[in-house]
Amino acid sequence: MARDLKLTRNIGIAAHIDAGKTTTTERILFYSGVSHKLGEVHEGGATMDWMAQEQERGITITSAATTVGWKYKDKQYHVNIIDTPGHVDFTVEVNRSLRVLDGLVFFFSAVDGVEPQSETNWRLANNYKVARLGFVNKMDRSGADFLNVCKQVKEMLGSNAVPLQLPIGSEDTFKGVDDLVSNKAMVWNEADKGMTFTEIPIPEDMLEDTLKYRENLLEAVADYDESLMEKFFDDPNSISETEILNALRKAVLDMKIVPMLCGSSFKNKGVQTMLDYVMELLPSPLDKDDIVGINPDTEKEVTRKPSESEPFCGLAFKIATDPFVGRLCFVRSYSGILESGSYVYNTRSGNKERISRIFQMHANKQNQIDSLQCGDIGAVVGFKDIKTGDTLCDEKNKIVLESMDFPEPVIGYAIEPKTQVDADKMGIAIAKLVEEDPTLHVHTDQETGQTILRGMGELHLEIIIDRMRREFKVEINQGAPQVAYKEALTKSTEHREVFKKQSGGRGKFADIVFELSPREDEKLGLEFENKIVGGVIPKEFIPSIQKGFEEAMKNGVVAGFPVESMKVRLFHGSFHDVDSDALSFELAARQGFKEASKNAGAKIMEPIMSVEVVTPEEYTGPVTGDLNRRRGMMKGMDTKMGAQVIKAAVPLSELFGYVTDLRTITSGRATASLTFSHYEFVPANLAETIVAKVKGTAVSK
Ligand code: GDP
Repeated sequence: MARDLKLTRNIGIAAHIDAGKTTTTERILFYSGVSHKLGEVHEGGATMDWMAQEQERGITITSAATTVGWKYKDKQYHVNIIDTPGHVDFTVEVNRSLRVLDGLVFFFSAVDGVEPQSETNWRLANNYKVARLGFVNKMDRSGADFLNVCKQVKEMLGSNAVPLQLPIGSEDTFKGVDDLVSNKAMVWNEADKGMTFTEIPIPEDMLEDTLKYRENLLEAVADYDESLMEKFFDDPNSISETEILNALRKAVLDMKIVPMLCGSSFKNKGVQTMLDYVMELLPSPLDKDDIVGINPDTEKEVTRKPSESEPFCGLAFKIATDPFVGRLCFVRSYSGILESGSYVYNTRSGNKERISRIFQMHANKQNQIDSLQCGDIGAVVGFKDIKTGDTLCDEKNKIVLESMDFPEPVIGYAIEPKTQVDADKMGIAIAKLVEEDPTLHVHTDQETGQTILRGMGELHLEIIIDRMRREFKVEINQGAPQVAYKEALTKSTEHREVFKKQSGGRGKFADIVFELSPREDEKLGLEFENKIVGGVIPKEFIPSIQKGFEEAMKNGVVAGFPVESMKVRLFHGSFHDVDSDALSFELAARQGFKEASKNAGAKIMEPIMSVEVVTPEEYTGPVTGDLNRRRGMMKGMDTKMGAQVIKAAVPLSELFGYVTDLRTITSGRATASLTFSHYEFVPANLAETIVAKVKGTAVSK
């Protein structure tokens, strides 16, 4: 039976690491009746964190989707919760979750407020136009300050944060909230783990603040809704609770207001009220715009409404390996219904695949379902060829949804199997892991024969290697981290390459004249312009020439690093009737690139990271001094809740082990966040060292 889409919520919980997302998810499972005991994160028992090393590290890496039911105002809601990781190395996971979510609960710690990673994720959520609520957790901790966090959301994140609640009691006496919408105070009952609450009169000492912040709320919604504006000026008390909620909902959907809530998940306070507000204020799939895609046959834009009567379309947003059912592919459906046993078309592979089974996921348990309803999220088993970002649709109604962009990896490790047995298993393990994680790349160094694993940061790769050990039982030796350098051309040059070989019998001959230059647009890859006229090179050889350049640019001339982008304008050449063939022209292009790029000002580029350190004031000197020694460029200083925030751009090559060093410098009192920013040219003296090192390694092998 079709579900009422209005009662579906696809939500995510975004948070800086340690803000309490896992604890809260646990509470949600408990309150909604999915799990019967409360698993505590610090005991490593949380249901959502079902991968072994996540339990050990106490952080959540994969965005597993969990489904729960929630009763609100006598209606039964169907809620899919996408777990999004908070660690900076996994921004890509946050990215792809945001793509398929309709709404977000954004967590803050009441003590730490807006942290660097919150800023990154907040901006990503803005980009994807995800409506959100703010939840300020850990209200029981000393130093908790709800209103200050609201202020930070306004000032640091530039959003219209409006408190919907005020905390009753503070720190260890925090016991309830004063709800500004209903103008009622509530205190959670300890006896049943906060399952129920008692309404109390608004405490005397809060009357003044309540008046002030309720007016603030009314003004914010009135500002958004003309009809309420008049009432607001005539008699604010005449605005009903329903009117406030309706206007608030519209403002949230338009991303004009971020309602702020508070609680303490650990002390079982505020999680249920937060869920009630999710049902009340966050969008259902029906509230989202129709999804737009391209028909691959006609290249014309097509749209699909979130309706079961439309043809099916959905996005595969996550591939995971489950110990019991094997490969699971998480799919968000946007239109139509996907039935198990039916066939679905994959627009990337062009294959029709049979859906053998569909599951609704409840943390680490699966519940088999007959069909995936419109707007819902489920896990599908049965795909032979599937990748993250694939569009799945009805074969007769093809559509390609905007795929997800994944950043290129910036760091690599050389890895080698410890024994021959490990060698056999390593290939299988890597193939699986690469399929699950689009930011993980693997390649073989042509000179050394080593396998290089590349990813988004040290932690990312450590976790991958850890998974190889645990899940695939592969023991490996791992080399020192390597920076993913690139090469770029800086000027243009013209070149003629004649490729000739005469070794008895039929010879080889190709002759090409081209201009090699940096690309003028910002795009990556090869821009190939064919200006051959009069058939001086036959048409059939042109693709081989292009292929030759594409292959050649994988190894630049300075130190063998890939050339990210370049332009080739092929304008002259010649051929031989008998000796010329496709391979000759491909080899001419490869050789020609090598020769020409010597004159094209090729230089090495290195990845630069944005570093943000939050430290007690007294360590500002040592921290900035250390960043300077690491070739850091200072980008700004700020203060936040009495701490110093230092922003800098620092080459990745100088940052290995930075987190550990920072701990030493500041006696463990500072925190750092590192995100990839961009590539920059390496200073000349360092470039020489890099070249010498690369050549040195090659010689010693
Ligand atoms: P995550 O990294 O965001 O998933 O955060 P966790 O849920 O793992 O919580 C990090 C730590 O904070 C754990 O030790 C939790 O027990 C603790 N914690 C979570 N919520 C609260 C809270 O409301 N109050 C207090 N005092 N501690 C909390």
